[in-house]
Amino acid sequence: MNILDGKKVQNAIIEELKEKISSLSTPPKLAAVIVGDNPASIRYVNHKQKACSRVGIQSEVIQLEPNASQEEILSLIQRLGQDPGVDGILLQLPLPDHLDPHPLIDAIDPQKDVDGLHPDNMGKLLLGREDGFIPCTPKGIQKLLQFYKIDPTGKRVVIVGRSNIVGKPLAALLCQKKPLAGATVTLAHSQTENLKEVCQEADIIIAAMGQAHLIDESFVSPGAVVIDVGISEKNVDGKVCLFGDVNQTKIKKIAAWSSPVPGGVGPMTIASLLENTYLAYTKRHKGSA
Ligand code: NAD
Repeated sequence: MNILDGKKVQNAIIEELKEKISSLSTPPKLAAVIVGDNPASIRYVNHKQKACSRVGIQSEVIQLEPNASQEEILSLIQRLGQDPGVDGILLQLPLPDHLDPHPLIDAIDPQKDVDGLHPDNMGKLLLGREDGFIPCTPKGIQKLLQFYKIDPTGKRVVIVGRSNIVGKPLAALLCQKKPLAGATVTLAHSQTENLKEVCQEADIIIAAMGQAHLIDESFVSPGAVVIDVGISEKNVDGKVCLFGDVNQTKIKKIAAWSSPVPGGVGPMTIASLLENTYLAYTKRHKGSA
Protein backbone atom coordinates (compact mmCIF):
# COMPACT_ATOMS: atom_id res chain seq x y z
CA MET A 1 0.00 0.00 0.00
CA ASN A 2 1.29 3.47 -0.90
CA ILE A 3 0.97 6.41 1.47
CA LEU A 4 -0.75 9.67 0.58
CA ASP A 5 1.61 11.92 2.50
CA GLY A 6 -0.28 15.10 3.35
CA LYS A 7 2.68 16.62 5.16
CA LYS A 8 4.84 16.34 2.05
CA VAL A 9 2.18 17.97 -0.15
CA GLN A 10 1.60 20.65 2.49
CA ASN A 11 5.33 21.48 2.44
CA ALA A 12 5.24 21.87 -1.34
CA ILE A 13 2.20 24.19 -1.11
CA ILE A 14 3.84 26.19 1.68
CA GLU A 15 7.02 26.73 -0.37
CA GLU A 16 4.98 27.92 -3.33
CA LEU A 17 2.84 30.28 -1.23
CA LYS A 18 5.84 31.63 0.67
CA GLU A 19 7.36 32.81 -2.57
CA LYS A 20 4.14 34.42 -3.82
CA ILE A 21 3.49 36.16 -0.50
CA SER A 22 7.05 37.48 -0.23
CA SER A 23 6.42 39.61 -3.31
CA LEU A 24 3.29 41.29 -1.91
CA SER A 25 3.49 44.84 -0.57
CA THR A 26 1.62 43.91 2.63
CA PRO A 27 1.06 40.44 4.11
CA PRO A 28 -2.41 38.85 3.98
CA LYS A 29 -4.14 38.67 7.35
CA LEU A 30 -6.29 35.91 8.82
CA ALA A 31 -8.49 36.48 11.88
CA ALA A 32 -9.47 33.31 13.74
CA VAL A 33 -12.33 33.40 16.23
CA ILE A 34 -12.43 30.69 18.84
CA VAL A 35 -15.12 30.43 21.51
CA GLY A 36 -14.31 28.64 24.74
CA ASP A 37 -11.42 26.40 25.66
CA ASN A 38 -12.04 23.11 23.83
CA PRO A 39 -8.48 21.63 23.78
CA ALA A 40 -8.85 20.14 20.27
CA SER A 41 -10.09 23.46 18.86
CA ILE A 42 -7.23 25.33 20.53
CA ARG A 43 -4.77 22.82 19.10
CA TYR A 44 -6.20 23.16 15.57
CA VAL A 45 -6.08 26.97 15.75
CA ASN A 46 -2.46 26.80 16.98
CA HIS A 47 -1.54 24.57 14.01
CA LYS A 48 -3.22 27.04 11.66
CA GLN A 49 -1.40 29.98 13.24
CA LYS A 50 1.97 28.24 12.96
CA ALA A 51 1.33 27.44 9.32
CA CYS A 52 0.37 31.08 8.66
CA SER A 53 3.67 32.27 10.07
CA ARG A 54 5.57 29.78 7.87
CA VAL A 55 4.19 31.38 4.70
CA GLY A 56 4.15 35.00 5.88
CA ILE A 57 0.40 35.33 6.55
CA GLN A 58 -0.31 37.52 9.56
CA SER A 59 -2.73 35.86 11.95
CA GLU A 60 -4.75 37.07 14.88
CA VAL A 61 -6.54 34.69 17.22
CA ILE A 62 -9.49 36.13 19.11
CA GLN A 63 -10.45 33.77 21.92
CA LEU A 64 -13.79 34.46 23.58
CA GLU A 65 -15.07 33.14 26.89
CA PRO A 66 -17.01 29.82 26.76
CA ASN A 67 -20.19 31.72 27.75
CA ALA A 68 -19.81 34.41 25.05
CA SER A 69 -23.22 35.45 23.71
CA GLN A 70 -24.53 35.05 20.18
CA GLU A 71 -24.74 38.87 19.89
CA GLU A 72 -21.15 39.37 21.05
CA ILE A 73 -19.81 36.94 18.44
CA LEU A 74 -22.08 38.36 15.76
CA SER A 75 -20.83 41.89 16.30
CA LEU A 76 -17.20 40.68 16.32
CA ILE A 77 -17.70 38.89 13.00
CA GLN A 78 -19.35 41.98 11.53
CA ARG A 79 -16.49 44.17 12.78
CA LEU A 80 -13.90 41.84 11.20
CA GLY A 81 -15.90 41.94 7.97
CA GLN A 82 -15.63 45.72 7.88
CA ASP A 83 -11.96 45.83 8.90
CA PRO A 84 -9.95 46.64 5.74
CA GLY A 85 -6.85 45.04 7.30
CA VAL A 86 -8.47 41.59 7.57
CA ASP A 87 -8.52 39.35 4.48
CA GLY A 88 -9.83 36.09 5.92
CA ILE A 89 -12.19 35.22 8.78
CA LEU A 90 -12.28 31.81 10.38
CA LEU A 91 -14.86 30.79 12.98
CA GLN A 92 -13.50 27.65 14.63
CA LEU A 93 -16.20 24.99 14.95
CA PRO A 94 -17.80 23.34 16.84
CA LEU A 95 -19.20 26.13 19.00
CA PRO A 96 -20.48 25.64 22.56
CA ASP A 97 -24.04 24.26 22.66
CA HIS A 98 -25.76 27.52 23.60
CA LEU A 99 -24.74 29.09 20.28
CA ASP A 100 -26.40 28.72 16.87
CA PRO A 101 -23.63 28.54 14.23
CA HIS A 102 -25.85 29.33 11.23
CA PRO A 103 -26.52 33.06 11.81
CA LEU A 104 -22.85 33.49 12.71
CA ILE A 105 -21.66 31.83 9.49
CA ASP A 106 -24.22 33.92 7.58
CA ALA A 107 -22.63 37.05 9.10
CA ILE A 108 -19.15 36.29 7.71
CA ASP A 109 -18.37 38.50 4.71
CA PRO A 110 -18.48 35.94 1.84
CA GLN A 111 -15.37 37.59 0.35
CA LYS A 112 -13.47 36.80 3.57
CA ASP A 113 -15.03 33.38 4.16
CA VAL A 114 -11.82 31.37 3.81
CA ASP A 115 -13.48 28.26 5.27
CA GLY A 116 -16.03 28.36 2.44
CA LEU A 117 -18.96 27.73 4.78
CA HIS A 118 -21.10 30.78 3.98
CA PRO A 119 -24.24 29.83 1.98
CA ASP A 120 -23.04 32.03 -0.94
CA ASN A 121 -19.83 30.01 -1.23
CA MET A 122 -21.57 26.66 -0.69
CA GLY A 123 -24.07 27.60 -3.40
CA LYS A 124 -21.30 28.57 -5.81
CA LEU A 125 -19.55 25.27 -5.17
CA LEU A 126 -22.73 23.32 -5.88
CA LEU A 127 -23.27 25.32 -9.08
CA GLY A 128 -19.71 24.61 -10.21
CA ARG A 129 -18.80 28.30 -10.18
CA GLU A 130 -15.16 29.30 -9.80
CA ASP A 131 -15.66 32.59 -7.95
CA GLY A 132 -16.28 31.28 -4.43
CA PHE A 133 -14.20 29.65 -1.73
CA ILE A 134 -14.07 25.86 -1.50
CA PRO A 135 -14.17 24.48 2.08
CA CYS A 136 -10.66 23.58 3.23
CA THR A 137 -10.93 19.83 3.85
CA PRO A 138 -12.64 18.99 0.51
CA LYS A 139 -10.20 21.26 -1.35
CA GLY A 140 -7.28 19.62 0.46
CA ILE A 141 -8.48 16.11 -0.42
CA GLN A 142 -8.78 17.05 -4.10
CA LYS A 143 -5.22 18.47 -4.02
CA LEU A 144 -3.89 15.35 -2.30
CA LEU A 145 -5.36 13.18 -5.07
CA GLN A 146 -3.98 15.56 -7.71
CA PHE A 147 -0.45 15.46 -6.25
CA TYR A 148 -0.40 11.67 -6.42
CA LYS A 149 -1.96 11.68 -9.91
CA ILE A 150 -5.07 9.81 -8.79
CA ASP A 151 -7.75 11.01 -11.17
CA PRO A 152 -11.31 10.63 -9.81
CA THR A 153 -12.85 11.14 -13.27
CA GLY A 154 -15.30 8.33 -13.98
CA LYS A 155 -14.44 6.57 -10.74
CA ARG A 156 -16.86 5.42 -8.05
CA VAL A 157 -16.26 7.49 -4.95
CA VAL A 158 -17.97 6.65 -1.67
CA ILE A 159 -17.84 9.40 0.95
CA VAL A 160 -18.91 8.26 4.42
CA GLY A 161 -20.20 11.21 6.48
CA ARG A 162 -22.55 14.01 5.37
CA SER A 163 -21.36 16.99 7.40
CA ASN A 164 -21.53 20.53 6.05
CA ILE A 165 -17.78 20.96 6.37
CA VAL A 166 -16.61 17.69 4.76
CA GLY A 167 -19.07 15.23 3.23
CA LYS A 168 -21.60 17.46 1.49
CA PRO A 169 -19.16 19.98 -0.06
CA LEU A 170 -16.80 17.14 -1.03
CA ALA A 171 -19.61 15.36 -2.86
CA ALA A 172 -20.46 18.63 -4.66
CA LEU A 173 -16.80 19.16 -5.58
CA LEU A 174 -16.05 15.68 -6.90
CA CYS A 175 -19.18 15.30 -9.02
CA GLN A 176 -18.57 18.44 -11.14
CA LYS A 177 -17.83 18.08 -14.83
CA LYS A 178 -14.34 19.47 -14.38
CA PRO A 179 -10.73 18.32 -14.15
CA LEU A 180 -9.90 16.53 -10.87
CA ALA A 181 -13.60 15.71 -10.46
CA GLY A 182 -16.12 13.88 -12.68
CA ALA A 183 -16.62 11.06 -10.19
CA THR A 184 -19.75 9.01 -9.58
CA VAL A 185 -20.31 10.00 -5.98
CA THR A 186 -22.21 8.14 -3.27
CA LEU A 187 -22.71 10.05 -0.03
CA ALA A 188 -23.15 7.50 2.76
CA HIS A 189 -24.02 8.29 6.38
CA SER A 190 -25.32 6.87 9.63
CA GLN A 191 -28.62 5.82 8.01
CA THR A 192 -27.01 4.04 5.07
CA GLU A 193 -27.98 0.38 4.88
CA ASN A 194 -25.25 -2.17 4.13
CA LEU A 195 -22.40 0.35 4.43
CA LYS A 196 -19.83 -2.39 3.96
CA GLU A 197 -21.28 -3.45 0.61
CA VAL A 198 -21.61 0.17 -0.50
CA CYS A 199 -17.92 0.77 0.28
CA GLN A 200 -16.87 -2.44 -1.47
CA GLU A 201 -18.16 -0.88 -4.73
CA ALA A 202 -15.81 2.09 -4.39
CA ASP A 203 -12.63 2.88 -6.29
CA ILE A 204 -12.07 5.65 -3.76
CA ILE A 205 -13.39 5.57 -0.17
CA ILE A 206 -13.33 8.79 1.83
CA ALA A 207 -14.10 8.15 5.49
CA ALA A 208 -15.29 11.18 7.48
CA MET A 209 -17.30 9.78 10.37
CA GLY A 210 -15.24 10.20 13.50
CA GLN A 211 -15.58 6.45 14.29
CA ALA A 212 -12.15 5.15 15.22
CA HIS A 213 -10.93 2.31 12.96
CA LEU A 214 -14.42 1.42 11.70
CA ILE A 215 -13.17 0.88 8.15
CA ASP A 216 -11.19 -2.35 7.90
CA GLU A 217 -10.28 -4.75 5.10
CA SER A 218 -13.85 -6.01 4.79
CA PHE A 219 -14.99 -2.59 3.44
CA VAL A 220 -12.20 -2.23 0.86
CA SER A 221 -11.95 -3.78 -2.59
CA PRO A 222 -8.51 -4.70 -3.96
CA GLY A 223 -6.63 -1.70 -5.36
CA ALA A 224 -8.93 0.91 -3.81
CA VAL A 225 -7.76 4.32 -2.64
CA VAL A 226 -8.72 5.03 0.99
CA ILE A 227 -8.71 8.56 2.37
CA ASP A 228 -9.05 8.95 6.10
CA VAL A 229 -10.53 12.22 7.34
CA GLY A 230 -11.65 11.09 10.79
CA ILE A 231 -9.87 12.13 13.94
CA SER A 232 -10.84 10.54 17.25
CA GLU A 233 -8.90 11.18 20.43
CA LYS A 234 -8.45 8.31 22.85
CA ASN A 235 -6.53 7.90 26.02
CA VAL A 236 -3.99 5.10 25.64
CA ASP A 237 -1.86 4.36 28.71
CA GLY A 238 -2.39 7.88 30.00
CA LYS A 239 -1.47 9.48 26.67
CA VAL A 240 -3.88 11.17 24.22
CA CYS A 241 -3.61 9.36 20.87
CA LEU A 242 -5.25 10.20 17.54
CA PHE A 243 -7.18 7.56 15.61
CA GLY A 244 -8.51 7.78 12.10
CA ASP A 245 -11.68 6.11 10.83
CA VAL A 246 -9.53 3.57 8.96
CA ASN A 247 -7.62 0.67 10.43
CA GLN A 248 -4.47 1.13 8.34
CA THR A 249 -2.89 -2.12 9.49
CA LYS A 250 -5.87 -4.16 8.36
CA ILE A 251 -6.23 -2.55 4.93
CA LYS A 252 -2.57 -2.40 3.98
CA LYS A 253 -2.53 -5.65 2.01
CA ILE A 254 -5.64 -4.79 0.03
CA ALA A 255 -5.69 -1.01 -0.63
CA ALA A 256 -3.45 0.60 -3.25
CA TRP A 257 -3.22 3.97 -1.50
CA SER A 258 -4.15 5.32 1.89
CA SER A 259 -3.78 8.55 3.85
CA PRO A 260 -2.56 8.25 7.45
CA VAL A 261 -3.88 9.95 10.58
CA PRO A 262 -2.10 12.07 11.58
CA GLY A 263 -0.20 13.34 8.53
CA GLY A 264 -2.77 12.88 5.75
CA VAL A 265 -5.84 15.06 5.35
CA GLY A 266 -5.12 17.28 8.39
CA PRO A 267 -2.08 19.05 6.85
CA MET A 268 -3.98 19.39 3.56
CA THR A 269 -6.86 21.16 5.34
CA ILE A 270 -4.39 23.67 6.75
CA ALA A 271 -2.65 24.12 3.39
CA SER A 272 -6.03 24.91 1.82
CA LEU A 273 -6.77 27.48 4.50
CA LEU A 274 -3.49 29.22 3.62
CA GLU A 275 -4.34 29.08 -0.08
CA ASN A 276 -7.84 30.45 0.51
CA THR A 277 -6.44 33.30 2.64
CA TYR A 278 -3.98 34.20 -0.12
CA LEU A 279 -6.84 34.00 -2.63
CA ALA A 280 -9.01 36.30 -0.46
CA TYR A 281 -6.15 38.79 -0.34
CA THR A 282 -5.57 38.76 -4.10
CA LYS A 283 -9.31 39.15 -4.80
CA ARG A 284 -9.58 42.10 -2.44
CA HIS A 285 -6.44 43.80 -3.75
CA LYS A 286 -7.15 43.17 -7.43
CA GLY A 287 -6.37 46.30 -9.41
CA SER A 288 -4.73 48.09 -6.49
CA ALA A 289 -1.36 46.29 -6.63
P1 NAD B 1 -19.65 15.14 11.93
O1 NAD B 1 -18.91 14.73 13.16
O2 NAD B 1 -20.46 16.38 11.94
O3 NAD B 1 -20.61 13.97 11.47
C1 NAD B 1 -20.20 12.65 11.31
C2 NAD B 1 -20.83 12.09 10.06
O4 NAD B 1 -20.50 10.70 9.98
C3 NAD B 1 -22.35 12.19 10.05
O5 NAD B 1 -22.76 12.65 8.78
C4 NAD B 1 -22.85 10.75 10.29
O6 NAD B 1 -24.02 10.48 9.54
C5 NAD B 1 -21.68 9.91 9.79
N1 NAD B 1 -21.52 8.71 10.60
C6 NAD B 1 -21.26 8.62 11.91
N2 NAD B 1 -21.19 7.32 12.30
C7 NAD B 1 -21.39 6.59 11.19
C8 NAD B 1 -21.42 5.21 10.94
N3 NAD B 1 -21.23 4.31 11.91
N4 NAD B 1 -21.67 4.80 9.68
C9 NAD B 1 -21.88 5.68 8.68
N5 NAD B 1 -21.83 7.01 8.88
C10 NAD B 1 -21.60 7.46 10.11
O7 NAD B 1 -18.64 15.17 10.70
P2 NAD B 1 -17.34 16.04 10.47
O8 NAD B 1 -17.40 17.33 11.19
O9 NAD B 1 -17.17 15.99 9.00
O10 NAD B 1 -16.20 15.18 11.17
C11 NAD B 1 -15.99 13.83 10.87
C12 NAD B 1 -14.62 13.42 11.34
O11 NAD B 1 -13.63 14.08 10.56
C13 NAD B 1 -14.33 13.81 12.79
O12 NAD B 1 -13.53 12.81 13.36
C14 NAD B 1 -13.54 15.09 12.66
O13 NAD B 1 -12.67 15.30 13.75
C15 NAD B 1 -12.77 14.82 11.40
N6 NAD B 1 -12.35 16.01 10.65
C16 NAD B 1 -11.07 16.05 10.25
C17 NAD B 1 -10.61 17.12 9.50
C18 NAD B 1 -9.19 17.16 9.05
O14 NAD B 1 -8.74 18.16 8.58
N7 NAD B 1 -8.48 16.04 9.12
C19 NAD B 1 -11.48 18.14 9.15
C20 NAD B 1 -12.81 18.05 9.54
C21 NAD B 1 -13.24 16.96 10.28
